[in-house]
Order: sequence, then structure tokens, then C-alpha cells
Amino acid sequence: MKLQCIRCGTQFSINPIRSHCAKCGGTLEYVADLPAVDAVNFCGLQGLWRYKQLLPAVQHVVSLGEGGTPLHKADRLAKAVGLKTLYLKDETRSPTNSYRDRAASLLTSNALDLGFKALVSASNGNMGASLAAYCAKAGLICHVIVPKVVDVGKLAQMLAYDAIIEEKGDIVDDSICRARAEAEETGWYQATAELNPYVVEAQKTIAYEIFEQFGVPEWLLVPMGSGGTIYSLWKGFKELKQLDLISELPKMVGIQPEGCASIVNFVNLGNLGSEKVCSGATRALAILVGEPLQSDLAVKAVSESNGLALTVSDPEIFAAELQIAKLEGVFAEPASSTTAAALKKLMEEGTIPKDSSAVCLITGSGLKATDVLQAITKKQKTAGLGLEISTKQKILGILSREDAYGYDLWKQLGKIVTRAAVYQHLNELAEKGLIAGYEANGRRFFKITEHGKRALAAFDDLKLLM
Ligand SMILES: [Zn+2]
Repeated sequence: MKLQCIRCGTQFSINPIRSHCAKCGGTLEYVADLPAVDAVNFCGLQGLWRYKQLLPAVQHVVSLGEGGTPLHKADRLAKAVGLKTLYLKDETRSPTNSYRDRAASLLTSNALDLGFKALVSASNGNMGASLAAYCAKAGLICHVIVPKVVDVGKLAQMLAYDAIIEEKGDIVDDSICRARAEAEETGWYQATAELNPYVVEAQKTIAYEIFEQFGVPEWLLVPMGSGGTIYSLWKGFKELKQLDLISELPKMVGIQPEGCASIVNFVNLGNLGSEKVCSGATRALAILVGEPLQSDLAVKAVSESNGLALTVSDPEIFAAELQIAKLEGVFAEPASSTTAAALKKLMEEGTIPKDSSAVCLITGSGLKATDVLQAITKKQKTAGLGLEISTKQKILGILSREDAYGYDLWKQLGKIVTRAAVYQHLNELAEKGLIAGYEANGRRFFKITEHGKRALAAFDDLKLLM
């Protein structure tokens, strides 16, 4: 086992841990000989450590029950976007509700083996929350360096698990620089995801699980921040192929928010670093990264797999977040929701054929994200008003498709309110000029006006902001 530069191939010893090539600056990858095909045996254990034969060896396993997350068949979401087969890999079900628990388990185990007492990690939130929990379990001291803007749910986790939190920089890039310096200065274990090659090793187990739960999807959609995660899954599938367990590989689809898209720009235009492509304008905080340190890994995953990279806007991300929750009962954080937003786009464009199979990686829980928590609290306060508005909105929605009369509308609404309330809503909508009544076949019909159509469109926009 050794560390090898993915760009120039130079090899380094496994310790001390380092992330980038001293010769060319390329990202270093952990490489080890795979076991003989007939020696691979996943039987027995559950979760991450089921795959210990394919992971770096550790003596002191720190575990909170990571890995082994469900793969949900998402038929309603599939139907909504027009795809035949869709699955959600639900990492929200991890011990601290994000996929980073896999990495935290392996890294804290490794730190214990090497005799460290403390570790340091720069993080946008999820990695910090995971490491804080695993350090608590292992009795290690956990230093987390976070940027100014970080999701409150993740911060609450770090505080609860008793991490020492330091704020550095506007975005995580600055925090990473600080973590690099702190580890060198203090001798703490370097547990920053971008600076520790073991992270990819832990995360590649997500691919093994997808293979065991379903097989190989034709398309695998993964959010991109620093670029390491998409490569982790790609590496996992490549190893399964080397082991002759599969014959096909998925096409990797990497997604970034529009406000922060340097990897996508590089894949599509070839100009990484030549201009500032991160305006910091996204609320998908988990993937708000200025200059991704592992972009070479992400580019390798996309190009080797004949995949693609694309951006989605914040409104598209939040619409997708609501859609995943409403249709599949999975509450994903904004960064994870980029996958469903991208899928919708690719289906509409015809890039992904209707009869394909796809898996969206849901990296973390919506409960961790600031905006969503605020929106939900706000909604509870206005729940009464909310129902009234949503009934009017539903009436406008029905009338935008066809004219209808009162009793018919009441039935179409699913009889959720009284008939008297429906007539009251109709009167109010007519007074505001959003609908107009007319007589036909002895009944009073209603139709939507131009003004009403605009109001309906505004409702849809508003929902994304609430
Ligand atoms: Zn190199």
C-alpha cells in the first residue's frame, strides 16, 4: 500500500499522511493490491466494515453503525421526471445524518492506530459533525475549523459532540489553509476531507453497497464540492470491475450549483482556475467551495466514465428538495438535492434516455441545513393562513387546466374543505379578478383570468422562497 499521484504517478509512503504530490501538485490516492477475486467475501458484517478487505487495514475500529444505508426505489419521483428506474441512496440515515460518517469512522480508527490524541478538520459542516461524534466515541480531541457561513444544524451537532470550533474565512477554502497549517504546527492528525486520502477509501463503500442492493446503474448522480466524493464512488465501481464482480460501469454525473461551478467549467470549457467562477452565491452550503482541491479527481471520474458535469440554480435545487420530500419521504439537504434537480434537467433535454436506470446520491439530511429549518419554523407559525392560501392556489391550479363549477371543484379538491368554503374562496378570487364566472348548461362555471395565471405562477416562485 502506498500513496500515488493521480497525475504523474509518483509514489509516496503511506505515512505521514499527505494529500498532494510534491512534484506536480496532483492529488494523491491511496493504492493497495486488491485481494484475489475468490478471496473476496462480504458475508457476515453489516455496514462499512463489511468491506474491510477492501479498506486500509486498521486495528482499533471506531464505529457508530456507519454505512449500510438504504437504497430506496423512487417510483413516484421517477414518474415525475419521466425515468424508468430511479433509486435514492439515502445517506441521511447515517449516525450523524450524512455520508461523512463513513470517512469519520475510518479516519478516527486510523488516528487511534497511529497514537494521535487530537485531530483537526476544516469543514463546511458535515465532516465536522461526523468527526466530532466519532472523536467523542473514541476519546479523541476534535478541532473543527469552519467558515463564517455554516449550516446551523451541523454547528449544533459539533457543539453537542463537544468539538473545539474555530471560525476561519468566508468560505471553506480559507478554513482548509488554516487546518493544513495547524496540523503542521501542532502535530494533530489531519482529518480534513480534502487533505486525507483515506476519505476516498471510506466513501467508495457507497458504490459497493449500491452494487449489492441494486447492481450497476447506468447513471450515477453525485453533488460536487471539492471533487472527492464523485471520485470515491467511481473508484468503488472500478474496483468491483477489477474484481470481476461487474462488467459494466456507470456514467458519472457531477453537479455543482450555478454560483460555484469551477469543476463543471473545467469539464465543459477547460478553464479551471483561469477565472473566478465561485461567486459564493449558493445556499447549498455543503458544496460551496471556491477552488476545489480535488478537482483533478472529479474530472477523472467524469471523463473516464464518459459522464458529464452540469450546474443547477438555487431555485431548481430548492424545488427538487421539496419534490424529493413530497414524493419519496426523504428530506435531503440542498447539496444533495442538486442530484434530483440535475436529473430533471437531463431528462427534459433528452440527455438521459427514458428507459435508463439512475441513482441519486443523497449525501445529507435536510434537518442540518439552515434555510430549511428557518422555512419550516416560519411555515408552522402561519399554518392557518397557509391552508387558506393553498386552497386558493389549488383552485387556480384546477381552473388553469379547465373551467369548472363549484361542486365539481369541491370534488377535485378532494373534499378537504367544506363546500361553503369553496364558494367563499371562489367569491374572493372573483372579487380580486383572478377568476371570472359565467353561466353555461344551467350552472355557474369559473375560468381563470390572465391576472389569475400570473398569480398562480407567482405562487410557485414564492414556494421556493418560503
Ligand atoms: Zn504528481
